[in-house]
Amino acid sequence: GDLDYKKSSQYASALIKKQESVSEFTRTKTIKQQREYLPIFSVREELLKAVSESKVLIISGETGSGKTTQLTQYLYESNYAANGNGMIGCTQPRRVAAVSVAKRVAEEMGCELGQEVGYSIRFEDCTTKNTRIKYMTDGVLLRESLNDPDLEQYSCIIMDEAHERSLNTDVLFGILKKVAQRRRDIKIIITSATMNSKKFSDFFDGASIFEIPGRTFPVGIRFDKAAAEDYVDAAVKKALQVHIQEAPGDILIFMTGQEDIEVTCLILAEKIASQETIPPITILPIYSQLRSDDQAKIFETSKQRKCIVATNIAETSLTLDGVRYVIDTGYCKIKVYNPKIGMDALQITPISQANANQRSGRAGRTGPGICYRLYSDTNFRSDMLENNIPEIQRTNLANVVLLLKSLNIDDLLQFDFMDPPPQETILNSMYQLWLLGCLDEAGSITDLGRKMAQFPLDPPLTKMLITADELGCTEEILTIVSMLSVPSVFYRPKGREEESDAVREKLLISESDHLTLLNVYEQWKKNDYSGQWCSDHFIQVKTLRKVREVRSQLKDIAKQQNLKLTSCNYDYDLVRKAICSAYFTHAAKIKSIGEYTNLRTAMPCRVHPSSALFTLGHAPDYVVYHELIMTTKEYMSCVTSVDPKWLAEMGPMFFSVKEYYGHRRDRSQIQAEATNRIELSNRIALEKQTEMRIK
Ligand code: ADP
Ligand code: MG
Repeated sequence: GDLDYKKSSQYASALIKKQESVSEFTRTKTIKQQREYLPIFSVREELLKAVSESKVLIISGETGSGKTTQLTQYLYESNYAANGNGMIGCTQPRRVAAVSVAKRVAEEMGCELGQEVGYSIRFEDCTTKNTRIKYMTDGVLLRESLNDPDLEQYSCIIMDEAHERSLNTDVLFGILKKVAQRRRDIKIIITSATMNSKKFSDFFDGASIFEIPGRTFPVGIRFDKAAAEDYVDAAVKKALQVHIQEAPGDILIFMTGQEDIEVTCLILAEKIASQETIPPITILPIYSQLRSDDQAKIFETSKQRKCIVATNIAETSLTLDGVRYVIDTGYCKIKVYNPKIGMDALQITPISQANANQRSGRAGRTGPGICYRLYSDTNFRSDMLENNIPEIQRTNLANVVLLLKSLNIDDLLQFDFMDPPPQETILNSMYQLWLLGCLDEAGSITDLGRKMAQFPLDPPLTKMLITADELGCTEEILTIVSMLSVPSVFYRPKGREEESDAVREKLLISESDHLTLLNVYEQWKKNDYSGQWCSDHFIQVKTLRKVREVRSQLKDIAKQQNLKLTSCNYDYDLVRKAICSAYFTHAAKIKSIGEYTNLRTAMPCRVHPSSALFTLGHAPDYVVYHELIMTTKEYMSCVTSVDPKWLAEMGPMFFSVKEYYGHRRDRSQIQAEATNRIELSNRIALEKQTEMRIK
C-alpha cells in the first residue's frame, strides 16, 4: 500500500545521496570498461552458445542491459558477418533509435559511421559495401523483403524492441518465420524488454528463450491523489520541486508528443530563469522529429542536473544513464484508426500498466530512484489496460496490405499474424486500395498496385505521382510529395512572428498549399539552393536539403518504374488535377464562409489557419486536403482547391455528375450547374466493398 511506497522512496532518496553521479562514470571510464560493465557482458559466452545452437532465439532483458548495442558486436566478433556471410541486421521500430544506436556502436567499434557499422531509415541510407552491421527501421527491412524475399543479404537478423509490437515488426514476424523455414543458414534473434518472451517463443514454434540477468535498483513509486487536470503544468511543477529539493540525479519526464514537449521545456526554462536562487538545469527535449544533432545532446555529459522531456521513445528504445527521477504523465500519443474520418489520427491516450512500469524502471537503471506518477493508484489499477494494444490492431493497414499482396500473399486471413488484425480493418484497407486502383474487384493486386508498392510512400501519394506521369507533371509532383514527406519547412522564431509571417505570405499560392510547397522549393532552386535565401525567408534549410535528397531518391525509383519525368511548365491546373487524384476521398464542399462539409462523412470542417487559403482569404467551392487535424473542431490541413469535375473524373466510384436534360440552355449554363450537381454517390462504393471478397 501507500506506506510501502513511501518507505521505499525514502530509502531510495537516502541511497541516491550516497551514490556517485553516473555521468561521472561515463566520463571517467573507457568505452571498453563501459561495455564490460553492462549486464549482457557477464553472459556473453552462454549467449553466443545459445545463438549457435538455435535458428530462432528469443532474448529478454531489462532496458539498458546492452541488447541493442552489444548483441550485434558479439555476433560480429564471432564471425557471423565474416567474408562470404551476409550482414548482421538489427531492426528498430523508431528512426531515432536506429540512427543513435548505429552512431554509438560505430564509436564503440572505432569506425566511421556508414563503414562497418551503418544504418538505413526511409530516405536515408548510411551504409556502404563495407557495412557488416546494419541498423535499420523495421519498415526498411520489410521493404527489402519485397525485392529480396529470403533476405539473402543477411546472415543474422535481430528484431529488436519486439515488445513494442510496431505494425512493421508484427508483419515481419510472419515473414521471418517463413524465411527461417526456407533458409538453413540464417539466425533470427528476437529481443524484448519485458515479459512477453513466452508469446514470441510460442509464435516461433517454441524457440528457446535466453534471459539476461537484470541489474536494477529499487524505485520508489509516488502516486498523486488524483490525475492532474493539466499534465504539462503538473509535470513542470513536479520537476521544479524535484530539482529544488532532491539530491543530484537527472530527471526524465514522459510527455505525449512534440508540442507538449516544447511547451513543457519552455515553461520550465522560464520558471527556472525567473528565480535566481534556483540552480541552473539543462533542459533537453527528445522526440522523433527532432533534428539529429539535437537528439545527440541527451547523451552528452553535463555538470549540472539534466531534465529530459521525452515521448515514450525513452521508455525502452533509448537508454539514458544517470536518470534518478522519472515523472510520468500517464499519457502517450499513438496512432489510432478513426473510422469516422476514415484514416489514422494521432491520439493522446492513457498508457498501459506495462508502459507505466517500464517508465518507472528508467529511474532505477544505474542506482535507486523515484518515479512520480501524475495520477492515482486507482487510475493505475482501474483505468489502464494491462498491456498495449498492438499497432496492427488499431491502425490503417493499406500499406501493409499492399505490401503483402505484392509479396503474393493473397490470402490475408491465412497470413501468420501473432495477433491478427480485425477483419473489418483489413476489408477497409482493401477498399481504400481498390479506390486507388491497386486492387481489382476480386481483391487481387493490379499492375498499378505492383508499381505503387515499389514506392516508400503512402498509397495516395504514390497515386499522385502515377497520375502526374499520365498528365505530364511528374517533376512538380515529385517535389510536392517530397515536401509532404518531411516536417514543415517554415519556422516562426519567437519575437519575430510578424516579420516571418509577412515574408512567408509572399511565398503563398492562394489556391493551394501543395502549390505553395512547390513554389517554396522552386524559389529555393532558382536561388541556387542557397542557405541565405532560406534564412531570409524563415525556411529551415536543413529540412529543404532533406527534401532535395528525398526527391532525388523518389526520382530514381520513378525512373526504375519507367515513369516519364516531365514538367508541365507552370500549367498548375494539371498539378492540381494530379493532387485531386490522390485525395478524392478527402474532399469537402463549401457550406458558408469558413465552413466546409466533408463530402465523405458529411461532417463540418474548416480550413486550418496555417493554410494559404486561410491566410489569403480564398474560399473555393471545392477543396481536397492532405489530412484532418482534430482539435475541438476538425481542421483540414494542406488544402488545394479543385474543380468538381475532376472529382467525378478521378473518383468515379465516389462521385457522379447528375445528367440534366433541360431545354433551351446554353452550354455554359449547364457547365455552371454541373458544379452544383456533383453528387456524392458513396453508396455505389460501399456496395462494391461488400462485393469484394477477402482473398
Ligand atoms: P538495451 O538494448 O538492452 O536496452 P542498450 O544496448 O541500448 O541496452 O544500452 C546499453 C548502454 O549503452 C546503456 O548504458 C546506454 O547508456 C549506452 N548507450 C546506448 N546508446 C548510447 C549513445 N547513443 N550514447 C551513449 N551511450 C549510449
Ligand atoms: Mg534496446
